[in-house]
Amino acid sequence: MSYSPAHWRRVCDETRRMVADVPLYRDRPAPPADPSAVDTWLKQVPPVGKRELRRGFPKSLVRADQDLSAAMRDERVTLLATSGTTADRLQVIWEWSWWDPQEREAMRLNARIAAAMARKEWREAVLTTPACGAGSCHFGTQTAAERSIDGILFFNESADPTHWTDGECERMLREWCEFAPLGVEADPAYLAIIARAALQRGVRLPSPEFITLTYETTTRAMRRDIARAFDAPVFQLYGATEAGVLFMECEHGRLHPNERHSHIDLEPLPGSQRLARVLVTTLGRAWMPLLRYDIGDVVRVADSRECACGLKSDGPLLERVEGRQSDCIDVAGETLTPLVIDDAIHAALHPSESTLEQWQLAGDTLLVVDPKSADSAARAAAAVGALLHRAIRSERVAAIAPEASGKYRLVKR
Ligand SMILES: [Zn+2]
Repeated sequence: MSYSPAHWRRVCDETRRMVADVPLYRDRPAPPADPSAVDTWLKQVPPVGKRELRRGFPKSLVRADQDLSAAMRDERVTLLATSGTTADRLQVIWEWSWWDPQEREAMRLNARIAAAMARKEWREAVLTTPACGAGSCHFGTQTAAERSIDGILFFNESADPTHWTDGECERMLREWCEFAPLGVEADPAYLAIIARAALQRGVRLPSPEFITLTYETTTRAMRRDIARAFDAPVFQLYGATEAGVLFMECEHGRLHPNERHSHIDLEPLPGSQRLARVLVTTLGRAWMPLLRYDIGDVVRVADSRECACGLKSDGPLLERVEGRQSDCIDVAGETLTPLVIDDAIHAALHPSESTLEQWQLAGDTLLVVDPKSADSAARAAAAVGALLHRAIRSERVAAIAPEASGKYRLVKR
């Protein structure tokens, strides 16, 4: 990696202030004054996880000179809960003036997205769990105008897309046709359901200039059905409510770091050359700065530091985001990620003919949703069993329910 001296100076200055000002990091050794020594220092700083962020929240994360109540009264910050599963859920001090610019800047790392966002008729829609907090709540029945913030239309208003009624699907398809967004940010599981609903009804949705997928892990089946319904390029936008946008996929399928807003350390997983945990140190963030925060996911590092898109990144390039670390399975010292399991399922099903929509590994049972094929569940389970070196039972089901948070789990113990 070849970060510039200016980057290291910034990491040095910001981490010095974190250790001096933020109670959670007070017991960390002070960073060296010499920016060229910061890398070595940083690698020795113990990571923090969700548990540490929860403990003593929000006081442990507020800087010595900050007045959280006053900032909340002035609406400079708000407290939000992330939408993770219960064990993962976090409260976050959400700072508007930080979130928006760092997200926009990450998106513009992708040339196609940057061009679309520069158009004067730019308009954007979001399809995910309903937003709730910061003075708005999109649960329940509202008009499209009531679900719009700053020109962004939020399609969804119920927590469980497995049970979207025909009426809800048709309302969203109708709003999509009327609004004709140029950019769509979506949870891939949710967008795959809408894509299937459109295909089933023969509704041709106006294709946006691009689709970004975020919020949860994208399986091959989701990508396949999204590609069938939309003639639009699909890119991964990888980040988290508590950490900002960390990586943006370019037109050549590599995820580039959003390095003006965070410094990323990758911790290789034991026994693997390419799989790593992601440790985030945020930059330019007044409220709730993160120092070596373990986001809890596993990523696959790209095999080359060069990318055909021409964008030079000093930080690491990724090939893909593999899923949550807690959903990975260790088999004889090798880490098998949710997407490696997905690869095995996909390979067993002849990709061009596969109609499998969704799967979940629950203990030793592979649940499969595939309304059009009765035998895919057994073939998929055999492939997963061969990968995991243990017997996996198959069960063909009508639906797999999301967690209370509205997100789907790929692996459940
Ligand atoms: Zn690139």
